[in-house]
Amino acid sequence: MLDVRNLSASYPGGFALRDISFQICNPQMTGIIGPNGSGKSTLLKALCADLDSTGNIQLDGTDLRKARPLERARKVAVVPQSIEKIPVSVLEFVLAGRTPFKKWHQLTYSEADKVLAWEKLEEVGLLRNFDKKTLASKNMDELSGGERQLAAIAQALCQQPRLLLLDEPTANLDLCHQVEILRVLEQSLQKHGILMLMVIHDINLASAFCSRLLCLSHGSIVAEGETGKVIDKKLLESVYKTGLCILPHPRDGHPMVFPEI
Ligand code: ADP
Ligand code: MG
Repeated sequence: MLDVRNLSASYPGGFALRDISFQICNPQMTGIIGPNGSGKSTLLKALCADLDSTGNIQLDGTDLRKARPLERARKVAVVPQSIEKIPVSVLEFVLAGRTPFKKWHQLTYSEADKVLAWEKLEEVGLLRNFDKKTLASKNMDELSGGERQLAAIAQALCQQPRLLLLDEPTANLDLCHQVEILRVLEQSLQKHGILMLMVIHDINLASAFCSRLLCLSHGSIVAEGETGKVIDKKLLESVYKTGLCILPHPRDGHPMVFPEI
């Protein structure tokens, strides 16, 4: 369980996250929505201690703010917003997820680590796009944006985390790849019981894939709870400062949000 209480953090420039409290109890997809600049990425940074904070962040009873970096890295994986095009092989990139588990005297990754890395590349579907030999010789800078994103998810899964933080994993991807990424995450969450917290801009994808949502505005949580409860016309209109129309999806009735134009 992730239990965040009264988390506050600020940049020297002035922006502050104020008094953030929420819990994630079950392996379920929790989305963070909110306008640009509302503090979504800052919240992820504070949760993984990339940014100093005050308050409490307990993961299954461990205080993540006070945990040693290695202990934190064994429990929390982060998929950043943009995955750099680096001239490193895809396999090495995914294997980097095992770094927190290497012994201090261990110079190379073990055979078990390599087996796990291939398993994760298969789990995210990259072995459907390439055969093993081709993928083994590919560098990260030779992949498409969607494929790099899948490799970053494979790296995070290779870390076998309890908590996975993702910053807009579907940004800059076409519709088909957005859905592919979210299905991969959904399946991994069910298979491994990971707690997932994902910044997601597209409210309609959030509505389709997340069971709970946190809505941020100006560094504070303005709504939190079941997705259907947070996707509320009045609330979202005041947060996004635009007229909205909310309609049920024709197939299963989940709420779809359209700007009034
Ligand atoms: P979001 O992810 O919701 O779009 P961010 O969390 O990235 O928003 O940013 C929230 C606010 O914090 C913005 O006003 C942004 O300008 C500011 N900010 C982000 N990163 C820094 C930084 N490193 N130093 C100072 N201010 C920052
Ligand atoms: Mg952001």
